[in-house]
Amino acid sequence: MNYRHLGRTGIRVSELSLGSWVTFKNQVDVDAAVELMAAAYDAGVNFFDNAETYAYGKSEEVMGAALKRLNWRRSSYLVTTKFFWGIHNNINERNTLNRKRLIEGINGSLSRLQLDYVDVAYCHRADKTTPIEETVWAMHNIIEWGKAMYWGTSEWRPDEIVAAINIAEKHHLHKPITEQPEYNLFARQRFEKEYARVFQDYGYGTTIWSPLASGMLTGKYLKGIPKDSRANLKGYGWLQKRMKDKDQLAKVRALQPIAKSLGCTLSQLSIAWCLKNPNVSTVILGASRVEQLRENLGAEKVVAKLNPKVMEKIDKIFGIAKDEDDD
Ligand code: NDP
Repeated sequence: MNYRHLGRTGIRVSELSLGSWVTFKNQVDVDAAVELMAAAYDAGVNFFDNAETYAYGKSEEVMGAALKRLNWRRSSYLVTTKFFWGIHNNINERNTLNRKRLIEGINGSLSRLQLDYVDVAYCHRADKTTPIEETVWAMHNIIEWGKAMYWGTSEWRPDEIVAAINIAEKHHLHKPITEQPEYNLFARQRFEKEYARVFQDYGYGTTIWSPLASGMLTGKYLKGIPKDSRANLKGYGWLQKRMKDKDQLAKVRALQPIAKSLGCTLSQLSIAWCLKNPNVSTVILGASRVEQLRENLGAEKVVAKLNPKVMEKIDKIFGIAKDEDDD
């Protein structure tokens, strides 16, 4: 396993990591979580991603129970969580980054995870109504109290990230150090173009999500919706619709011969393509079964095969990110 610095921090994260969205609780119980996390850890993964909103807190409970059973030395791994949507449908507790919510949120997460601290606490989305200054102070306090080591943003606009960094610098507070954006062959624009200055000027880290576009890039949806897939879960009708997108399916089909010529699977190729970007600190993998995880961990060895010719072929299929002033 290779490790990359998380932005400009001294901490290094495995370039492949494991997340629990959709899977933990819905598809993966504590036994299966133990199996998945152990397979990841044994392969060198040191970063495990979660969020309070995943399965309304139950995903953190599953991860917490699994960690307890695994009994690893706490210093040997990193755990993250995120706040914004909340888990209670109540004013001041939903879609917010207010101080009260963030501080109550971290306390709730730590209790569900059965941990003394998380390594990165993320603001899961930007909050248009709470002053950024209030959020920055709360995140700073959470770190000062030892409840998180670092803090980050997820899907914030570049100007919002820069505003948070500037406020932190002005008051000598802990700055956000990493984004958690979507990045995969279908979602390139924000990562490659909009965030370019944030990477260049601030060395901001990235822990990227849905590298397989929820499974679309594995090729598993080419013949319809598999019964045991994420898109067939109750409440995931929106995803099922996306997995029938003819344009996307055609692109995945066109990627097949490239994967074949490189001697790898579609999943490995798609993940390796994300790893090829040096602005990626870690690719967060999702897996509902340990065989999927094992296959995906094999992506590391494909990166070296992605020479300029191969990258060009891939660009031809998926298109490239455009500059703002392009037509
Ligand atoms: P992916 O895009 O990699 O999708 C993972 C899913 O694809 C698996 O659960 C599985 O679903 C299927 N799959 C994976 N590998 C294979 C394989 N080799 N063969 C067949 N099917 C496979 O990642 P996620 O969407 O899960 O995102 C990864 C992590 O990113 C999340 O767990 C979460 O931690 C984070 N995230 C963060 C967000 C944010 O807003 N900050 C948003 C979304 C995710 P199936 O059950 O169908 O087999």
